[in-house]
Amino acid sequence: WGQRFGHDETDVLGQLHAAAGRHERISQDDLRGIADEFRRPVAAVTGSAGFYADFTGPRGARHVRVCAGTSCFVSSGGSPTAAAEAALGVRAGQASADGSVSLAEVRCLGCCHASPAALDGDTPVTGPGLGEKLRGDGHPASSGAAVPFHVASRTAVALAGLTEVEGSWQVWPRVVSTGIPASVRAEVALAGLRGRGGAEFPVADKWRAASRGPAPRFVVANGDEGDPGSFCDRLLMESDPARVLEGLAIAGFAIGANRGVVFVRSEYPLAVVRMREAVETARAAGHFGLGVHGSPFDFDVEVVQGAGSYVAGEETALLHAVQGFRGSVRPRPPYPTESGLGGHPTAVNNVETLAAVPWVLRHGGAAYAQLGSGVETGTKLVCLSQRFRRPGVYEVEFGVPLRYLVEALGGGLEDGYRLRALQVGGPLGGFLSPDDLDVPLLAEALADAGVALGHGSLVAVDDRITAPELLRHVWRFADAESCGACTPCRVGTRRGRELAERFPTGSEQVLSQHENLLDVMGVGSLCAFGRSVPGAVRSLLRVYRDELCSGAR
Ligand code: SF4
Repeated sequence: WGQRFGHDETDVLGQLHAAAGRHERISQDDLRGIADEFRRPVAAVTGSAGFYADFTGPRGARHVRVCAGTSCFVSSGGSPTAAAEAALGVRAGQASADGSVSLAEVRCLGCCHASPAALDGDTPVTGPGLGEKLRGDGHPASSGAAVPFHVASRTAVALAGLTEVEGSWQVWPRVVSTGIPASVRAEVALAGLRGRGGAEFPVADKWRAASRGPAPRFVVANGDEGDPGSFCDRLLMESDPARVLEGLAIAGFAIGANRGVVFVRSEYPLAVVRMREAVETARAAGHFGLGVHGSPFDFDVEVVQGAGSYVAGEETALLHAVQGFRGSVRPRPPYPTESGLGGHPTAVNNVETLAAVPWVLRHGGAAYAQLGSGVETGTKLVCLSQRFRRPGVYEVEFGVPLRYLVEALGGGLEDGYRLRALQVGGPLGGFLSPDDLDVPLLAEALADAGVALGHGSLVAVDDRITAPELLRHVWRFADAESCGACTPCRVGTRRGRELAERFPTGSEQVLSQHENLLDVMGVGSLCAFGRSVPGAVRSLLRVYRDELCSGAR
């Protein structure tokens, strides 16, 4: 890393993707060839191949990925894979005997506004009648996959390009040719911009920390939007990739990084294409390269495609994934700002965070800070799922009540359905009762209400879904996506799944075992994934108390 400036690298995950596409399973010869090329032990490459979902299942000539994320789970009445399995005649995780078709279950495809959803090859297939569409020879490509976008704040910040208020690459030439890195960081600090991926860490503080380390330094755009229910990063990368790249370039300048990486999850194939096209366009326009816009600053960007791992969105796991290793979390410190890619200082920022940066530099940090509420300045992209009358991505200011999003913007649920629970921030964010929606869209207020904002998704759960089904869904997600690096989470998620299978015949013993398990995971897990499971499960037990706990009385 840092030695090969100026041209795209063929990365390890890219090679594994290519190998996975050649055979039903990646061969030993492929693994040895990749290990030789990258001068790594075969065991290391085999470990990567065995870690990522994209490389572990069988691959038929036609490969379909069906979404089992929460929105698809709800819209399918709790059986997200059944229609695809029936249509293709093959179970999820298997290939047909003749190798003509294979089916994989994924979480999630970021089509939560148009659930249920599948990817047939790289073609999205969405909406009611999913099975018939997959069965038919010529299903309408991309049916319903375009994301409705609405601005409901005083001004559009993150998606200015989409709304055609102003185009991209308006700020970068001025910043790189006449700006000063410390002044750029100061403007972002004045804006109060915080990370939008869920942690809400102040962006300027992260940049300052990374800028203090020795060169080479790196900036990484985290496009591994894994929270089922969230699809705003997909929207940004597909519809306004130049804005994300402009934000990444400014971040690079602010910390003195000459190399940027955009890590895009493989469940978003169109986003991978759009980001790569945007990089080429930026190079051709002189926004990247040696001596950008006549300045002494060199900058270039590489796009790396992920391979199917929720935990790879965590920044230490993501940095492992970018380098082609298993996407396992590692303890911090050292933080990536001290030791990231190849051991060099690296700032990792979420795609939505970076998309706001050009606006901040163009209009000033003070203008940005006037939006939002208190320390949570600016706007947030909130995703409303398919069960709402008006699903889509909404740009709102921090501080608006959830009830405004659910009722005024989303329009509530369709006639005949009743909102039973609202999932906030993905399966690990938690659930709220319809009676508790007056809480504002602010991290602290949401935490007080027992949920986490996460990446800003709101998934409506209607009353067709039973509490035990939802509990099993959460535990299955946790069990499937735990990276296995620490025992409380690796064993705890498996045990939780087993306990969830025993509901609704709940007993005092099952409930108390459940509580003990949540306590251990909450204090002993290495990263936010394992530590978030207890809050999410407890929120579910609160909202569905009568249904889940009746057997224990
Ligand atoms: Fe991996 Fe879970 Fe431990 Fe996080 S808490 S490091 S996801 S096993």
